[in-house]
Amino acid sequence: YESNRVKFVRTVVEFDTLIKEVAFQLQKKASEKNVLIKLEYMPVLINADGDKIRQVLINLLDNAIKFSKNGSDIQIFQYLQGEMVVLKILDQGIGIQQDKLNYILDSFYKVDAKSVGAGLGLAITRNIVMKHGGTIEVQSEYGKGTTIMVRLPLNGMEKE
Ligand code: ATP
Ligand code: MG
Repeated sequence: YESNRVKFVRTVVEFDTLIKEVAFQLQKKASEKNVLIKLEYMPVLINADGDKIRQVLINLLDNAIKFSKNGSDIQIFQYLQGEMVVLKILDQGIGIQQDKLNYILDSFYKVDAKSVGAGLGLAITRNIVMKHGGTIEVQSEYGKGTTIMVRLPLNGMEKE
């Protein structure tokens, strides 16, 4: 074997278009919980692996919906900050206790072992974001909601 590293395929990606597509794709899951997805975006082109970035967006929005309270809102903000695109996803869900925040990006970690999922979405997300030279931050207030912020360089090159 040459290597088991995941191959990244970089092209010019319309970041805002991906967000709109993923929000549309997860609309049904959101409306089943009466959750409204509010979207604020601007046109942004980034040099990235579009399929991998789509997976990031699905993982984050899937979590936001899954852990949202019925009838609450999810706000997505996407904007430019210098040479970075910023994506913020705010939910009004169950939140995460401060002493657990440090673990949620780890593989197989779930706050509630009985919730749906393998506990891999955020670990995969972190990996993809890091490979693009970006950052991911989680803030949460237990019982109130969670904010995930991802920053990606417009010209994200793989760090070797
Ligand atoms: P998978 O994504 O593999 O289907 P999962 O959603 O449980 O399973 P992750 O996406 O990695 O796994 O998230 C890990 C854990 O972090 C979740 O099980 C949950 O406890 C917590 N978590 C993630 N996002 C949120 C959120 N928006 N609100 C509250 N808790 C969250
Ligand atoms: Mg998940």
